[in-house]
Amino acid sequence: MAVKEVKGQYNAKEIESGIRKFWEDKNVPQNISNFKNSKKKKFYLLDGPPYVNARAHVGHIKTRTLKDVWSRFKAMQGFNVWLQPGFDCHGLPIENMVERELGITSKKQIEEMGVDKFIEACRKHALGNEKEWLKLYRILGDWRGWHEPYLTLENYYIESGWWTVKQLFEKGMLVQGEKSTFWCPHCETALAGYEVTDSYADVKDPYIYVKFPIKGKKNEYIVIFTTTPWTLVSNVAIAVRPDKYYVRVKVGNDVLVMAEERVEPVLKEICKLEYEIQEKFLGKELEGIKYLPVLETPVQQKLKKEANAHKIILSIPVLKSKSYKHALEAESKGSKGEFFDFVTIDEGSGSVHVAPGHGPEDHYMGLHYRLPAVSPVDDEGKFTEDAGEFRGAFVKDADKKIAEKLEKRGMLLHFGWVTHSYPLCWRCKSPLIYRLSKQWFFSVDTIKGKMISANESIKWLPEFARERMRNWLDDVVDWCISRQRYWGIPLPVWVCEKCGKKEVIGSEAELREKASNKLPKQLDLHKHVVDKVELVCSNCEAKMRRIPDIVDVWFESGIAPWASLGYPHKKGSKELFDKLWPVDLIDESQDQIRGWFYSMLFCGIAAFDRSSYDAAALNGWVLDEKGKKMSKSLGNVVWAGDALEKLSSDVLRMYYCWELPAWETQKFSLRTAEEIRRSMNILWNSYSFFTTYCTKDFKPGIGKNLNVEDRWLLSRINSIIPEIKDYFENFEFHRTGRTLMDFVVNDLSRFYIKLIRDRVWVSESGKSKQVALATLYEVLVTLARLMAPISPYISEEIYQNLVRGFDKKAEESVHLTKWPKVNKKLVNRKLEKEMEAAKRLIDACYSARQSADLKLRWPLKKLVVASEDKTTLSAVKELNDVLKIMCNVTSVEAAKKAPKGDFTQAKIKDAVVFVSKDFDEDEVLMREVVRKIQSMRKKHGYNVKDSITLTISSGKETNELLQSRKDELKKEVGAKVIDVGKLAGKRKGKLEFKGKVVEISFS
Ligand SMILES: [Zn+2]
Ligand SMILES: [Zn+2]
Repeated sequence: MAVKEVKGQYNAKEIESGIRKFWEDKNVPQNISNFKNSKKKKFYLLDGPPYVNARAHVGHIKTRTLKDVWSRFKAMQGFNVWLQPGFDCHGLPIENMVERELGITSKKQIEEMGVDKFIEACRKHALGNEKEWLKLYRILGDWRGWHEPYLTLENYYIESGWWTVKQLFEKGMLVQGEKSTFWCPHCETALAGYEVTDSYADVKDPYIYVKFPIKGKKNEYIVIFTTTPWTLVSNVAIAVRPDKYYVRVKVGNDVLVMAEERVEPVLKEICKLEYEIQEKFLGKELEGIKYLPVLETPVQQKLKKEANAHKIILSIPVLKSKSYKHALEAESKGSKGEFFDFVTIDEGSGSVHVAPGHGPEDHYMGLHYRLPAVSPVDDEGKFTEDAGEFRGAFVKDADKKIAEKLEKRGMLLHFGWVTHSYPLCWRCKSPLIYRLSKQWFFSVDTIKGKMISANESIKWLPEFARERMRNWLDDVVDWCISRQRYWGIPLPVWVCEKCGKKEVIGSEAELREKASNKLPKQLDLHKHVVDKVELVCSNCEAKMRRIPDIVDVWFESGIAPWASLGYPHKKGSKELFDKLWPVDLIDESQDQIRGWFYSMLFCGIAAFDRSSYDAAALNGWVLDEKGKKMSKSLGNVVWAGDALEKLSSDVLRMYYCWELPAWETQKFSLRTAEEIRRSMNILWNSYSFFTTYCTKDFKPGIGKNLNVEDRWLLSRINSIIPEIKDYFENFEFHRTGRTLMDFVVNDLSRFYIKLIRDRVWVSESGKSKQVALATLYEVLVTLARLMAPISPYISEEIYQNLVRGFDKKAEESVHLTKWPKVNKKLVNRKLEKEMEAAKRLIDACYSARQSADLKLRWPLKKLVVASEDKTTLSAVKELNDVLKIMCNVTSVEAAKKAPKGDFTQAKIKDAVVFVSKDFDEDEVLMREVVRKIQSMRKKHGYNVKDSITLTISSGKETNELLQSRKDELKKEVGAKVIDVGKLAGKRKGKLEFKGKVVEISFS
C-alpha cells in the first residue's frame, strides 16, 4: 500500500461530498455514539430544539457548528457522546401560520371550524420540515444530522410533560389563581413576564389630563394624568405622594388639586390657562378623601358601593414592571433597592389613577391597600357588558371615545399624543394589555433559593453569564404556565364539575385507567382528543372534565433533558436516563438565559432537585456584515444553505472557530471567510507536496538523524497539542482555529516546506529525504487529528490517504481515533525560541534585500548579525544552515559591530542585520533561468514529475556558462535532455537579465 498522489487545488465541495458518502457507507456517525454496550464515560450535550418551521440562517449554523465541535472533540477524548437532535414543533408561530392560511383571525372562528381540524392543520405544518434541517446538518457535517430527532409533538414527549406536571402538582407547586398578567388580545392568551421583557416598541398613544370631582365639594377636582385612557373604566383609586407639596389652584370657577411642582408645566405650558394658587399643603393630608367616578359605567356603579374604592391613597415604593412579591419581600427586609415611587413627580399632575386590574404596579398598590380589582375586558381585549356604552370596543380603540365622553361631561382638562415604549406580543406583534384572568402557575418560592445556589455551581462559559443568570433569578416570579391556545401539550388537569376536586394525570396509561369513556387503541394526546376524555370523581362520583388550557412552550423546552428520551414512560427510557442524566453541556445563543437556560434550571430543580445541566456555553449573535440584525424585511439574511454553497462546510466551520470568541457578536462576512479558504488551500498544498514527493518505499516513523528543522517542527506540533486541548475545553474555539491556521501557514508551509524543498526533490534519494518525509508525514497526520473537530472533512480526507493508505487496520475514520498524545521527548522549547529569533532575522534580511532591490532568489555572499541578545546569538550559531537557506546567502555570522564593505541593513528589536550587496552574476543568471523555466512549466500544466526536452540559447559567453552547468540545470528543472545553442519545442519563452537575452524552448 502507498499513498495516492494528490493533484490540483483544494476542491472543498468535491472532498466533502466524497467524505460524506464514505461516512454514510461505513455508518461512521452511528458508530461514534454507542449507548448499548459501552463502558466509556458519557458526554450528554443536549440539543436545544430550534423551531422546526424556521428557515436556517448562518446564526443557526454557528450554533450547530459549535455543538458539533464539542461533540467531536469529546468523542476523540474517549467519551461516548449523545448525538440526538431535537425540534420544537408546538406553539403560536405555527398556529399563526395556520390562521393566515385559513383566513382566520379569531379564536371564535377556530372553535367554529372545529378544534380537531385546526390541530390537524398545525400538525401538518409542524411535520416534514425537520427533514430539511437534518439535510442541512449533514451538509455541514454535523453528526446529529444522521441521528433520529426528538420532536416535541410526539406522544412520548407529551407524556413526559404530563409526568413532570404531576410531580410538581404533588409537591404543591402547581397553583391556580386570578392574577393580572400580560395578555395578547390577538392570540387571546396570557403571556409570562419573561416573554415580554425583550419585545417593546415605540408606539403613539393619546395622553389625557382628567378632573375627578371631590365628593362633597362644589367645583373642586383632583387632576390625574394617564397614557391609557381606557383603563379609566376600571379606575379604583387615585394615588398621591405623601412627602410632596400639593396646592389648591383656582382656574376660572374651578378649584384644582395638584402637585405644586406640576402647576406651571401643566396649567401654564400645556393648557395655557390663567390660574391662582390658593392653598399649599403636604400630599399626605389628602389621604382618605373620597372622589366621584368620571364614567357612569356599570362597573363604576358597583364600585361606588365598595367602601375601599374611589378614595385617595398614598403612593408607596414599588418595583416598577417587576413582581409585587419581590417588592413585598424586599420591603419587609427594609430594602428599597430598585424601587421607585408609584407616583412620580417629574411628569403628569402628581396624582396617578390606580386600576389594579390593568397594570403590574397598580396591582401591587391594590394588594397593599386591599383595593378591589376589576377588569371588564374579555379575551379578545374588548370591553364587556360591565363597561356599559363602551361594550364591544377593543380597549385601545376606545381611548378616543372615552376622551370625548369626558370632554362632554366637562372632566377633560387636556388631550394630546405621546410616543412611548410599549410591550408587543413576541409572536404576532399586537400591542399587549394587562388584565386579570384565571391562570395556572408554577410557584417559585420553594425552589428559588435552590436555583440561586445551583447557579453558583454551573460551569458558565464564559463566566460573565453567571451574573446574568443571578440577576434574572433575583427577580423571578411565579411562572404562569397556562395558555388559552390549541397547539401544545394539554395541561393534564381534570376538575370535578360538582365538588371541584382536581386530578392531574401523569401518563397515557393512567388516563386509560381512569377514563370513564372507552378509548381507542391509538390515542393522540393533543387537546382535541383528550378534551373528550372524562373521568369520575373519586370524591363524589360526579363527572370530571379537563381544563381547556395548554402549557407554555417554554415548559416544553424546560423538560427536554428527559422528555427527549421519553422518560419515564417510553420503553427503555429509564435505562437511558440513568446513563445520561444530568446533561453535561448545553451550548446556545446568549438570549437563552431568560429562555431555555432558565426553564431547564427551573424544571430540573423542581422535578429532580438539581440543575439539569452542569455546564452551559453561550454563543454571540450573528449580524450582517455591517453589524445590522439580519431580517427578512431588510433582505440582509444570509441563509445557511447559501453560505454552505459558497464557502463549503470546512471553511464555514473554521470561520466560526477562528474570527472571534464564540460568545461575541459576529458580523458575518463572506469576504473574511474567504481568508480561511486561502489558509485551507495552503494546508492542501502542503499535503499535496508530501504526496508528490513521497517515494514508493517510504515508511512512516520518526527515526534518528533528524535535521534541526525536523526537530523544530516536531517540537512545534507537540507544543500545540495541549494548548489546543485547553482551548477546546475552555470554549476558546477561536484560539484553536487561530493556532491551527497559523501553524499551517507560517510554520509548516512558509517555513518548513521551504527549508526541505532541496532535501525531498524528485531526483533526491537517501536518508535525509526519508527523514524529511517522515517528519512531514507525522505532522500532517497529527494536524488532521487536531483539526478533525473543526474541519471534519479535510481532516478525514488526509487521514484516509496518509493513514489508511498504509495501514488498513488503523481506525476506520479520523473521528474514531483518540486525541493525539504529546510526545514530550520531542518538545524543545529552547529550539523553538531560537527559531523564533531566526524567523525575525530572516524577516529583517528580507526587508534589507527589498530596500536594495535584491531579489530573494539571487544568492548573496554574506549575512552579518550584530546583536547582544543571547537567543539571537545562539540562533545564529545553532541555526546557521537554516538561515543560509532561508536568506539565500553563502555565509551567516555574528559580529559585535557593523561590518565594513557594501551592505544593506535592517534593524529589529534585538539585532541589526547586514546583507552584502555583491553577488556572482553567473550564479544569479542561473537562478533567473531556472525560475523562468519553472514558471513556464507551471503555466503549461506540467507536473513536477513530467520530464521535458529543453533547448536554450543565448550569446556566446552565456551559452558557455549554460553548457558547463547543464547537469545542475537538468536536475533543477526536471529535463531529460538539454541542448544549448539551438531552439526547438512547442513552449517558447525569453528572459532578459543585465543586458543578456536567453531564449528557451521545450516540449
Ligand atoms: Zn399575539
Ligand atoms: Zn367531585
